[in-house]
Amino acid sequence: MNSSSTPTARFVSTGTLPGPEEIRSLVEAAYENFREEAGGKLADYIPALAEADPSAFGICVANTRGHAFMVGEAAETFSIQSVSKPFVFALVCEALGAAEAATRLGVDATGLPFNSIMAMELRTDGTSNPLVNAGAIAATSLIPGFGADDRWHHVRQGLSRFAGRELACDEHVYESEAANNQRNAGLAHLLRGHGRLYCDPDEAVEVYTRQCALLVSARDLALMGATLAGGGVHPLTGEQVVSAATCQRVLAVMATAGLYERSGSWLYDVGLPGKSGVSGGILTIAPGKGAVATFSPPLDAAGNSVRGQLVMRFLSERLGLNLFISAPAAHL
Ligand code: GLU
Repeated sequence: MNSSSTPTARFVSTGTLPGPEEIRSLVEAAYENFREEAGGKLADYIPALAEADPSAFGICVANTRGHAFMVGEAAETFSIQSVSKPFVFALVCEALGAAEAATRLGVDATGLPFNSIMAMELRTDGTSNPLVNAGAIAATSLIPGFGADDRWHHVRQGLSRFAGRELACDEHVYESEAANNQRNAGLAHLLRGHGRLYCDPDEAVEVYTRQCALLVSARDLALMGATLAGGGVHPLTGEQVVSAATCQRVLAVMATAGLYERSGSWLYDVGLPGKSGVSGGILTIAPGKGAVATFSPPLDAAGNSVRGQLVMRFLSERLGLNLFISAPAAHL
């Protein structure tokens, strides 16, 4: 058995979330504890994102059996932004295999901001990882298809299968980002120069920008995450969206690079794979158990939702999710 083999059923992360009453009371407590938190500010480098309501706040916990617990504005939709990136990477792993996807995109954390040009230039081979902009645009360029429409169709269909419903693009957000997207266009052309972009740069950026404008709610994100947590099977539709082996690799990259340059402190405190986006979403995955998604637009300096991080720091231990907690065997 080599390292890229499909995991066998004997060796998988298992366990369950606490019972419904306990989840409900913890999610409600998290909401009450942090609803007055006033830190952070709205992203404004994409003008449409600065129109968000800073007080909007929603939390959803979904287990791998499809039970969802929601509080606040968990059904309100917002543009998915960077939380699309792990799912597009999953589609690329399915198309190319996880080993080839890693070779072409890289899987190492950059430790630098999400849109860093220097991060790409510091690596001699021009790779980064699929959760920062350069690697994500490269991932989108690896989506099968002929031309932007075909690739976009594949991305939208793929993310819709993860959500278990048809996702739509927010045209206003798309237009707003497309008109202010010079930095991503620059990244795409530089990647092309490194031989690390696999289709026309303008086409890759167009599809990438559309993918970031897909509308989701915290509930959608939690179910998308529960699919990654549950061996690739959507908890409600029962569809095998991607393989269990793909989920394993996607979660690994989320653990090392999901929270921008704060990924280390996130893993240190929360102990789980996660991904944040500049519209205020954070998705956290507990392998085998389920997922927690939060929505609250005000961000810290790295681009991570302030309330979302507080919620996850609160919930991960109380729901028994932190992957790194153990007890001495003699005490069990
Ligand atoms: N569409 C955004 C960008 O490319 C996504 C950034 C993010 O959510 O991190 O700048």
